[in-house]
Amino acid sequence: MPRAPEIRPPENPWPLWLRVDRVSSSHREGGIRRWCVSTKSFEGNDKGTVKRLHCLEVEWVKKDGRFIPLEKVNSDFALDADLVLLALGFIGPGKDPLAEALRLERDARSNIAVDGYHMTSTTGIFSAGDMARGQSLVVRAAADGVQAADDINAYLRP
Ligand SMILES: Cc1cc2nc3c(=O)[nH]c(=O)nc-3n(C[C@H](O)[C@H](O)[C@H](O)COP(=O)(O)OP(=O)(O)OC[C@H]3O[C@@H](n4cnc5c(N)ncnc54)[C@H](O)[C@@H]3O)c2cc1C
Repeated sequence: MPRAPEIRPPENPWPLWLRVDRVSSSHREGGIRRWCVSTKSFEGNDKGTVKRLHCLEVEWVKKDGRFIPLEKVNSDFALDADLVLLALGFIGPGKDPLAEALRLERDARSNIAVDGYHMTSTTGIFSAGDMARGQSLVVRAAADGVQAADDINAYLRP
């Protein structure tokens, strides 16, 4: 008699998205996909052409409620390359002359560092939305803006 299927708790309970290891037709054409790899440097020839990537493996560990990549000891390796395409997504606010002039400090993720009241490291200067939170959603940016306006109001009218 066939055994009843084992019922396991879902790895991604609602409302989290399912983790799907998607393989598209382009992936099937070839190539090796590697995850949890951090590129530390590029090596090129004297013509300025990239020849090699120096990488190491990382492990995602939860720290202070968020996942951060931790470099694995002795996991470094090199990959030969003649073309590198960077697909990094949002890697933090760019260098902004205004932020530089105001000497606004950055947090560990290179966003503008703010305290619990949206105030930056420079007294009287506030930041909200993607600049302070990192890439997110319109609704979060709008909510941040409303909250920051409240905080600014409280700062101006103590
Ligand atoms: C390609 C893309 C697709 C996205 N799709 C979605 C989506 O489908 N749904 C969703 O919810 N979110 C989406 N987002 C994210 C969403 O757009 C952002 O989270 C949101 O716009 C952040 O709002 P913000 O006000 O913090 O920043 P921004 O919308 O970036 O506004 C900042 C403003 O400040 C201005 N500025 C910058 N420097 C100065 C300066 N020195 N002086 C004066 N003005 C300045 C800029 O010109 C800009 O207008 C997407 C983002 C991108 C890049």
